[in-house]
Amino acid sequence: MATFVITPPDPASVAVAGSPDRFPVRRIFCVGRNYAAHAREMGNDPDREPPFFFGKPADAVVDSGTIIPYPPLTESLHYEVELVVAIGRGGVNIDATDALGHVWGYGVGIDFTRRDLQDTAKKMGRPWDWAKGFDRSAPCGPLVRAADIGHPSAGRIWLSVNGESRQQGDLAELIWTIPEVIAICSQSMELKAGDLIYTGTPAGVGAVTPGDRIAAGVDGVGEIAIAIANPR
Ligand code: MN
Repeated sequence: MATFVITPPDPASVAVAGSPDRFPVRRIFCVGRNYAAHAREMGNDPDREPPFFFGKPADAVVDSGTIIPYPPLTESLHYEVELVVAIGRGGVNIDATDALGHVWGYGVGIDFTRRDLQDTAKKMGRPWDWAKGFDRSAPCGPLVRAADIGHPSAGRIWLSVNGESRQQGDLAELIWTIPEVIAICSQSMELKAGDLIYTGTPAGVGAVTPGDRIAAGVDGVGEIAIAIANPR
């Protein structure tokens, strides 16, 4: 075994529902615009676009219950509730008909976005990394095993801020289904055990400020709760 010249970082990980064990995170892939109503609210035509992906660092995950300090560089921190797919078995060029066999489980995540930085990046043709991949930008609630709950293809996906409903959708409205997302992602990247895929958000995205409490869930999968605190 290699001897490291500094102490290696702890692996990023997500809680597992009903267990003290944790799911180690290798990479985080995110799908853009995967619900038609959200694509429209962002000014795009959902019928014309193949799925596209962006990434977040693995250590952007934080557990449900985390109090997140309002991040730097933004005045427009947006929530996006998403179904998270946890890959348990890797592969390349995975066929959509086999894709669900690669899934270990599911969770409820939030793709936090510095929307003002993203708007600037879009206008200037710059990368999205600083808008999407900042510290604590990928909260994920406890994962549930596909072996226990099956593979959700329909069910309410929702998010509220301070008890007020903000996002409402249904997994049945996904433009690209979970098997299609896994298949298409694996054409570009070798998926491996530990990868998480955030599968896109329904309409109703918006900004939060310090003091806000966010709750979100997917019926049949679970829930997540996050609070926003003052900047560090
Ligand atoms: Mn998103």
